[in-house]
Amino acid sequence: MMGEAFNVEEIFAKNVFTLGKMKQRLPKSVFKEVKAVMDRGGELSLETADVVAKAMKDWAVENGATHYTHWFQPLTGITAEKHDSFVTHPDEEGKTIMEFSGKELIKGEPDASSFPSGGLRATFEARGYTAWDMTSPAFLKEAATGVILCIPTAFCSYTGEALDKKTPLLRSMEAVSEQALRIVRLFKNEQAEKVVASVGSEQEYFLVDKEKYLKRPDLVFAGRTLFGAPAPKGQEMEDHYFGVIRERIGAYMKDLNEELWKLGVTAKTQHNEVAPAQHELAPIYETANIAVDHNQIVMETMKRVAIHHDMRCLLHEKPFAGVNGSGKHNNWSLGTDTGVNLLDPGDTPNENIQFLLVLACIMKAVDTHADLLRQSASDVGNDHRLGANEAPPAIISMFLGEQLEDVVRQLVETGIAETCKEGGVLETGVSTLPNLAKDATDRNRTSPFAFTGNKFEFRMVGSADSIASPNTILNAIVAEAFCEAADVLEKAADFDLAVHDLIKEYMTKHQRIIFNGNGYSEEWIKEAERRGLPNIKSMVEAVESLTTDKAVKLFEKFHIFTKAELESREEVLYETYAKTINIEALTMIDMASRQIIPAVVRYTKSLADTVIAVKGAGADASVQAKLLDQVSSGLAQTKTALEKLQKAVEEAGAMQEGKEQAFFYKNVVCTAMEDLRRPVDRLEMIVEKEAWPYPTYGDLMFEV
Ligand code: ADP
Ligand code: MG
Repeated sequence: MMGEAFNVEEIFAKNVFTLGKMKQRLPKSVFKEVKAVMDRGGELSLETADVVAKAMKDWAVENGATHYTHWFQPLTGITAEKHDSFVTHPDEEGKTIMEFSGKELIKGEPDASSFPSGGLRATFEARGYTAWDMTSPAFLKEAATGVILCIPTAFCSYTGEALDKKTPLLRSMEAVSEQALRIVRLFKNEQAEKVVASVGSEQEYFLVDKEKYLKRPDLVFAGRTLFGAPAPKGQEMEDHYFGVIRERIGAYMKDLNEELWKLGVTAKTQHNEVAPAQHELAPIYETANIAVDHNQIVMETMKRVAIHHDMRCLLHEKPFAGVNGSGKHNNWSLGTDTGVNLLDPGDTPNENIQFLLVLACIMKAVDTHADLLRQSASDVGNDHRLGANEAPPAIISMFLGEQLEDVVRQLVETGIAETCKEGGVLETGVSTLPNLAKDATDRNRTSPFAFTGNKFEFRMVGSADSIASPNTILNAIVAEAFCEAADVLEKAADFDLAVHDLIKEYMTKHQRIIFNGNGYSEEWIKEAERRGLPNIKSMVEAVESLTTDKAVKLFEKFHIFTKAELESREEVLYETYAKTINIEALTMIDMASRQIIPAVVRYTKSLADTVIAVKGAGADASVQAKLLDQVSSGLAQTKTALEKLQKAVEEAGAMQEGKEQAFFYKNVVCTAMEDLRRPVDRLEMIVEKEAWPYPTYGDLMFEV
């Protein structure tokens, strides 16, 4: 607790079977083989796997582990685990030994029939396999279950189709590496052996008090408030963002950091976010698949630590109406294994031809596949943010900043960029303060896809969502653009001329994707429409972008998804949407019928009694009578809206699962939900606080 210090260097990655630990514990030749497979792919021999498994088990057991699990990421968007203990069949004296074989390390076979597969696996064919992703280290999870050895794995069907989010991500990383290598080779880089996609994801979250949380069925079942009148104070004072962190939250953050550091997650920054009770944590960037795994660990740990602090962590994209929701900024870049960041413009980007080619390719990729990027950032909760009066807009555009935009403009207009705007010095105007070197570019917080110095920040991703899909899409679309550019340039007789022409061509064709203005403005929506940029307003509308001819061609070409895998994902998305809204609707119905209406009925009774009593005493009861009138009419509206919602849910339930049903949920059920919420929220503002059945927004957000 307070003041109790821990040595970060000592605890960091304590619970991770790091490369260092492998080196220490494995015979040299075995370690070499493992390292080679990690770096260049391929398979471990069973003998080697046995040796690795034994070393891993010994380390785990020494640290208290009793079980292991193949930890995987099904299409639910969260992680799955089934624990197996290391216990073996006892010998005749009744003694057991702890064992773990290479076979068990490399391959698992969970019953796959209860995970969403979108028809990829007939129900009678339940076989699914998990395979160790050697590039993401095994780790020990300490929870109430004891210590569990977690082995990050990919999850595939009997016939090899991906049933998870990791498999396509790994495929996309290979694709972008291969194509990016072709690009760097054109610029005479012969040393690089691979190009690695790096990701750093900033995670936003809310914390609420456990007691209050448990009194709200909507938070318990849906992860967000389905009713709730605004508190007198919201985020208008802008006093929470970067504000002093309250003691209770600080203690939580301290524990959270410690847990994450032990798991090798580089928790780096922490701060209060814009909305009351909202916070953020960002790690240092790392290889994409590890970053994806770590983000899952972050989300899981946030929830677990909150429980220990008698709080609950809300990762939903929109837990409260009227204040900011939560997202996840996905910072993405590409670097060679020799340490060159392909997205680093250097001091004079106008002269950095390789960078300009990479930039031109990314412009092309993002413009060509804006719909896919938008899809990758959609989930049910994110519909409340994207395109719904909140950051960021649903339209994909790219922010380059003044300096690069100017370079692109010159290239498009004249084919050469002679000059480049410089950063200069920021004068503080105070003699005792240093003058600061200024970046060449200011920031733009309204852009969904912003260049921030040496990386792109994809800001659309939802806080509860896995970051696997966005990064799979980014890698895939950029791989395609690199491939097409390399196809042309490798054949060019005069490389300098050809690359110059190609940059100009791509930038000219795709300059419409660049927008440096205010992404929240009404004008931008009109302007984007004029430019022909897609404005996909919801998750269900985004789904079909996965199976357009353009998308299928892209994914099949780079072996990231087969058509069948894409179709299965579409199906899963429609189902997920329908099921989620159904739960929300049923929760509202339950709350309204069994708690809100009865509470208001009781309140009207007490008002009516008051009216009679006051009148009987010979006084004026007109205020009481008027209030009774208002409450009664709100009650009537609530009842009508409730019945409408009940009918809509019944109708939806009778439909066949799929696209049409998902759209019905969005268009009819969601509308009926909003119609029910309105009269209830109005009632909340006039009914006596003690009579209201739930903690209010004020209680939830300001009394943590
Ligand atoms: P900003 O101020 O632009 O938000 P930060 O340096 O705070 O930038 O980084 C935000 C996130 O971006 C962090 O998670 C950080 O590790 C990550 N990041 C920084 N550089 C890169 C990079 N080259 N590739 C991917 N992510 C990066
Ligand atoms: Mg940032």
